[in-house]
Amino acid sequence: MGELDGRVAVVTGGTRGIGRTIAAWLHREGCSVTVLARDEKAGAALEAELPGVEFIAADVSIFPQVKAAAELVQARHGHIDYLVNNAGITRDRLILRMREEEWQRVIDINLTGVYHTIRAFLRYIIKARDGAIVTISSVVGETGNPGQANYAAAKAGLVGLSRSVAKEVASRGVRVNVVAPGFIDVGMTIDLPDDVRASYLSRIPLNRAGAPEEVAAVVEFLLSPRASYITGQVIHVNGGLYP
Ligand code: NAD
Repeated sequence: MGELDGRVAVVTGGTRGIGRTIAAWLHREGCSVTVLARDEKAGAALEAELPGVEFIAADVSIFPQVKAAAELVQARHGHIDYLVNNAGITRDRLILRMREEEWQRVIDINLTGVYHTIRAFLRYIIKARDGAIVTISSVVGETGNPGQANYAAAKAGLVGLSRSVAKEVASRGVRVNVVAPGFIDVGMTIDLPDDVRASYLSRIPLNRAGAPEEVAAVVEFLLSPRASYITGQVIHVNGGLYP
């Protein structure tokens, strides 16, 4: 028996990286988990490797796809308790060279995508006894980072978005929080050049990269009834890198 037995959770971008670990973790804790992501092949592989986890193909930047996915999860399960906004991309370039489409794509997926999922899923989550939303931001949203003005702007925007929604829905029993990871050893950090990686690691007080499980554990805590008095907060999981 898991801590979240019988709960229905949706994780965006859960086919790989941090989102996949979150999906597996919530599944292990008893949730019925649905992963929303774009890559159908990766979705089929996920369903084969994690039996019980369902995949729906949807691009979070396209509202009709997200809305259809929300309707499908509700129809399949009859209720939706938790939403984890994890899908995200980078298109790094120094600001003077950053193309309009690089700016816009990151905003469309990392920020507008979360507006879309909250709009589509909240109506169902409000009906849950004690629903919760966790959105994955980044330490970069707080500190800024050269070459990541688009990403940092989107990740900082998620904090204002989440704090506002937290205040809007608190009276309906829904909690909304943000997890801001630092340097996690999976997903978008895997392909960094060795020197960039070494430079990041040298600045982390705990002197190592984080594991995706160290993010998933905090996400699960924030969703669970153990976090029943926590809403509108940003929890940093970064080995002491910030603040
Ligand atoms: P990743 O690239 O391994 O995974 C991203 C996931 O998002 C994939 O499943 C991908 O299919 C999905 N995705 C991308 N665009 C999408 C779209 N338009 N619609 C639906 N799904 C889409 O990345 P990751 O490193 O696991 O990062 C996951 C989250 O954690 C991101 O929001 C990222 O910004 C954040 N984050 C990561 C780190 C890190 O060190 N890896 C640090 C801080 C924050």
